[in-house]
Amino acid sequence: MTPLLEMRGVTAFYGHSQALFGVDLDMAEGEVVALMGRNGMGKTTTIRALTRLIPHRAGAIRFAGQTLDGMPAHRAARLGLGLVPEGRRAFRGLTVTENLIAAARPGAWDLARVHALFPRLAERAGQDAGSLSGGEQQMLVIGRALMTNPRLLILDEATEGLAPLIRGEIWDAIRALKSETGLSILVVDKSLKELARVADRAVILEKGRTAWAGPMADMTQDLADRYLGV
Ligand code: ATP
Repeated sequence: MTPLLEMRGVTAFYGHSQALFGVDLDMAEGEVVALMGRNGMGKTTTIRALTRLIPHRAGAIRFAGQTLDGMPAHRAARLGLGLVPEGRRAFRGLTVTENLIAAARPGAWDLARVHALFPRLAERAGQDAGSLSGGEQQMLVIGRALMTNPRLLILDEATEGLAPLIRGEIWDAIRALKSETGLSILVVDKSLKELARVADRAVILEKGRTAWAGPMADMTQDLADRYLGV
């Protein structure tokens, strides 16, 4: 397996307050990895460090054969990090299609392919993005990330706060991305059940450190009770 991502001993701070104390996270090309842990354990901060939205202080991050240490976010994005941030909304004042086109970079993902994955976005093509439902906006934000033709799609709580029907459609799309395109996906979500269906491996954070990493199939109830408090 070709390594796509290697995060080793990553630490990060918000001002003087340390949030990450040693995160190790490895991904191979084509893997779906669930990044797990209770609230405040550092999942979003790990994603911010990976996508260079905040600097890491110690440790190393390599992606697609290059070090990301010291690299600005826009350059890291160009290497193929496609981020769907927590609570992200689409650009209002632009239509659904304009939102998608604005993100486009050359590659296999184009408007037609995004429409095939999310038919609702084709139905709403000319509509202002601000008029979409929360679930449709989330589909649009995922579609935008795909239009950048990422090597790694990062989904931070992409189903948070959505109605069950829409949540189901988003999980269907994530499973389709895995089975039909083999895209590498790093996913944070509260639903252990859905993660268990799609993820190859899990990485569990506890107080800003990697506490456990292994195949999803090895995630026992014991581990879930201990680290996820479910
Ligand atoms: P959640 O599921 O609640 O989003 P998380 O696992 O993603 O949790 P983080 O958001 O990464 O956790 O938070 C890790 C730690 O960093 C927490 O102690 C949190 O309070 C702190 N933190 C997060 N964002 C900031 C910020 N912008 N400024 C200061 N501290 C922050």
